[in-house]
Amino acid sequence: MKIHEYQGKELLRKFGVPVPKGIPAFSVDEAIEAAKQLGGPVWVVKAQIHAGGRGKGGGVKVAKSLDDVKAKAEAILGMQLITHQTGPGGQKVRRLYIEDGADIQKEYYLSCVTDRGTQKVAFIASSEGGMDIEEVAHSHPEKIIKIFVDPATGLTHAQGEELARGVGMPDDSKAQFIDVCQKLYTCYMETDASLVEINPLNRDSKGNIIALDAKFNFDANALFRHPEIVAYRDLDEEDPAEVEASKFDLAYISLDGNIGCLVNGAGLAMATMDTIKLFGGEPANFLDVGGGATAEKVTEAFKIMLKNKAVKGILVNIFGGIMKCDTIAEGVITACKAVNLSVPLVVRMKGTNEDLGKKMLAESGLPIISADTMAEAATKIVAAVK
Ligand code: ADP
Ligand code: MG
Repeated sequence: MKIHEYQGKELLRKFGVPVPKGIPAFSVDEAIEAAKQLGGPVWVVKAQIHAGGRGKGGGVKVAKSLDDVKAKAEAILGMQLITHQTGPGGQKVRRLYIEDGADIQKEYYLSCVTDRGTQKVAFIASSEGGMDIEEVAHSHPEKIIKIFVDPATGLTHAQGEELARGVGMPDDSKAQFIDVCQKLYTCYMETDASLVEINPLNRDSKGNIIALDAKFNFDANALFRHPEIVAYRDLDEEDPAEVEASKFDLAYISLDGNIGCLVNGAGLAMATMDTIKLFGGEPANFLDVGGGATAEKVTEAFKIMLKNKAVKGILVNIFGGIMKCDTIAEGVITACKAVNLSVPLVVRMKGTNEDLGKKMLAESGLPIISADTMAEAATKIVAAVK
């Protein structure tokens, strides 16, 4: 789960990481009120969306008077902000963050992420902050420092020193920088984050270290421990189809292709998507209806898949284990009738009561294309959508 920058800064503040004073605003009037409270003389008006690269896209503007704050807030609020992370459609700006303008001397990059390979927390730092870290990694890989922190010891002082040295932190700011790294580590662990990224981490002209951006990602499996973080969730920032699917306990993820897939079991869903690609097709979604796929659930799944106008055909691939094939067949028939299905549908079923399920589909009078193997199912659906 992702959160907004202003929410991330609330968390950083709570864990003692220095951030500028700032106030979120949901309207231009609130933005002006926030600016008055902050006092100025320089403010930054920042679009709040769950994507980075806002500055380049025109979503972060400096203002030097209250009139200027008003003009910038009017320009940004409601705009369709396009960044390299939003996709070509962009994301509508519904919230702003009005923040004290910082005195920027040098921008650094600092982040924590869970590294599965080493089973440690990777700290990634660079002297080249403020810009795309992917670009730095590409053109100046030597300017990226990585340190792996053992959860048993936490970030040691020596590791903090190594990070400070690695980014060329001036001596008078070293202690503050190491302190920020240690607090960031605590924040990362205690919130069950899977990513915390501060880009840029600023060193001002007095040598003080302050976080100017905050990006968090949380481990969804640990959210039950953090109702205060769940409260930060902003459904406007999430894919509507995925939000709808979660209401029915369906694991659904939108993709770019044109073949809708309905599968039971996450592993089978992955294999089905791979098979579609192997035969030259592109999946439109990942969809795992889970073990207890009732007719109702299958109908909802069809409705959600078909909301995506790019879908030109559907592949149902079911393994009847606990879930019997005839139950799924009944679900598919009910769903097809309920949604008035108008795109080709290929169904592959294997397992318990397979013959009965196939018979039901054949006798339903619906134009369902049946397939026996995964390869046959993929070939048939790829041909049908061409
Ligand atoms: P994004 O990463 O989405 O572009 P940032 O919060 O990093 O958004 O802002 C982009 C740039 O704007 C930063 O690299 C920094 O140079 C500048 N900036 C952001 N916040 C402030 C601030 N409070 N004071 C001064 N400059 C800022
Ligand atoms: Mg940034």
